[in-house]
Amino acid sequence: MMVRTIMTVLVAAALGAAPAQAQLKVVTSTTDLYDIAKAVGGTRITATHIGEGYQDPHFIEAKPSFVLQLRNADVWAFVGLDLEIGWMSLLLDGARNPRLNPGGSGYLDVSRAIAVIDVPTGNLDRSQGDVHPLGNPHYWLDPENGRRMAKLFLAKFSELDPKGTAVYDANEKAFEDKLGATEKGWAADLASIRGKPVVAWHTSWHYFGQYTGMKIVAYMEPKPGVPPSPSHLLSVVAAIKASGAKVIIMEPFYDKKMSDLVARQTGATVLVLPPSVGGVPGTPDYFMLLQKDVSMLAAALR
Ligand SMILES: [Zn+2]
Repeated sequence: MMVRTIMTVLVAAALGAAPAQAQLKVVTSTTDLYDIAKAVGGTRITATHIGEGYQDPHFIEAKPSFVLQLRNADVWAFVGLDLEIGWMSLLLDGARNPRLNPGGSGYLDVSRAIAVIDVPTGNLDRSQGDVHPLGNPHYWLDPENGRRMAKLFLAKFSELDPKGTAVYDANEKAFEDKLGATEKGWAADLASIRGKPVVAWHTSWHYFGQYTGMKIVAYMEPKPGVPPSPSHLLSVVAAIKASGAKVIIMEPFYDKKMSDLVARQTGATVLVLPPSVGGVPGTPDYFMLLQKDVSMLAAALR
């Protein structure tokens, strides 16, 4: 037995291969988490994601194949703040994987790394349909939060796979370096965006707004997750006329007819922006996603 082990090591060394090691199996709820997890985990992890970038992350269909992925996973990374409340427990219950339950080693609520905004104060009436009862879960559209997310993956992967710590550490630093370089590249675009009034459909653009300095003067939704009523649309039209907002920002999966209606009455332009990695062609990773959103918005506001 001993001899065979030594032989295996010698053969592996002779072939220039690292001794076989189990990769961490990571499942994420969204493509954004997936992409940042891959950047930090590199070849030491395998990763899959449940939602696609073109889907509304509040409403993902809990397919049986996802249960199978979760059954053997080491890490379940999710956005948190109730973003996945409609489908996550169904999948985790089906997976029966104690590592992924609250308190388990692989239960990774990524929102705990974030300074959350839009946290409701006072009594919240859930019957009013607000889908952000714990605060705004769309934090990944601020690169500073991308860094926080990467650092959280670094900590979790190092905890579960201590031998990989140096690799995870180097990967995380490379991610931050690339993000910093990417940000430098769009400084002129940010200058065209800063201070400009805009309207957004969902509060998903609030973190992005804080980062870019665009001024969101109204939301198409009266509350997050509640479709616009006729009276609310009138107030949006009034806000656009009062502020001179030139664009209405929305995700590809919302009803564009409503935005077009407001655009016709105000002269504003409807700007469909991808909120997640892979949401539209040309957004294969986190850097390209942010790049596309910043450049498209800057072009529309110039
Ligand atoms: Zn939302």
